[in-house]
Amino acid sequence: MATQILDNALGAVGHTPLIRLDKIAKLHGLKCNLLGKVEYMSAGGSVKDRIAKAMVEAAEKEGKLFPGKSVVIEPTSGNTGIGLAMACAIKGYSVIITMPNKMSLEKEAALRALGAEVVRTPTEAAWDAPESHIGVAQRLQREIPYGIILDQYRNVNNPLAHELTTGPEIIEAVTSTPSTASRPSSGKVDVVVAGAGTGGTITGISRAMKKQHNPECIVVGVDPKGSILALPESLNTADEGLAYVVEGIGYDFIPDVLSRDVKDVDTWIKSSDDESFAAVQAIMKNEGLLVGGSSGSSLSGAINWLTKTEAGKRVANTEGLNVVAVLPDGIRNYMSKPWFLKIAMEAEPSPLALTISKVLQSV
Ligand code: PMP
Repeated sequence: MATQILDNALGAVGHTPLIRLDKIAKLHGLKCNLLGKVEYMSAGGSVKDRIAKAMVEAAEKEGKLFPGKSVVIEPTSGNTGIGLAMACAIKGYSVIITMPNKMSLEKEAALRALGAEVVRTPTEAAWDAPESHIGVAQRLQREIPYGIILDQYRNVNNPLAHELTTGPEIIEAVTSTPSTASRPSSGKVDVVVAGAGTGGTITGISRAMKKQHNPECIVVGVDPKGSILALPESLNTADEGLAYVVEGIGYDFIPDVLSRDVKDVDTWIKSSDDESFAAVQAIMKNEGLLVGGSSGSSLSGAINWLTKTEAGKRVANTEGLNVVAVLPDGIRNYMSKPWFLKIAMEAEPSPLALTISKVLQSV
């Protein structure tokens, strides 16, 4: 993190910590260094701040944005919108975010507080239907003077932002942490696990790992059951059309910025809502990290990859391996969602809760 005064909040985008998840690793009998890249600690609260900043700055360099006139319009599951609204609040551009109904009220509230207009669209609309979040953004852009869609699904600055920032930060943290007798380390990033929405995160991080660091690094994509991003296609067909609650990952089309080439994403794992939310609960209780739903998908994907390989076996020896799970956002975005309230409010009463009620009854 910077130690000098920053010009504005954009200076606090990225530079997130890589944090050991030792207790979770131990719970699963894993000897590897299980590490979380904790993106909710970025200024706008998610991994998508990085691409919002990069796309706005690139458009400015190309002379496409005009303060006081431009209207940045973007279809998003919310976090790219929050990053854009933050950047545009600072720089003086108007923002309209189109977002499917399933996305949380918390994201809409954050967007509105940052000065953005928010248009909700039917979750079930196909991506290329005029009423989808993508279709509505395109209609608005055609009619609104100075309207511009930076287009995270196609913009090269989306994967590039991760290739230039998220990936190198992970490499730096791993390579600058020494191997010790009690915590052996291979000295390199061996496995990265990330969910895919636009696919910018996984594609960009993979390029950083394989080009700049360790060509042998294994990159594991996590795709929710009901989405079609995973390969081989047979992984997707079993649950085709299934609705899922986790936000920000999975799609009904393949975004241009997602590289499904095996050179970039070595293998895919499907995730379920139940597994994802159980992993969120585990990470909160054991590691004290207030992550969001797709972080649970990423973490459960990492654990599944390590413990239930295709042959139904565990990865033989994980000692010294550095396994990174990307944790894309925080629980701020989901405070009112039933799945989170269930975790927070309906937990089994602890011995301490019983003691409290005994004490209070005796007063
Ligand atoms: N998790 C959350 C919460 C997100 O908002 C996103 C962005 N859609 C992702 C994961 C996936 O990131 P990407 O678009 O880079 O694949």
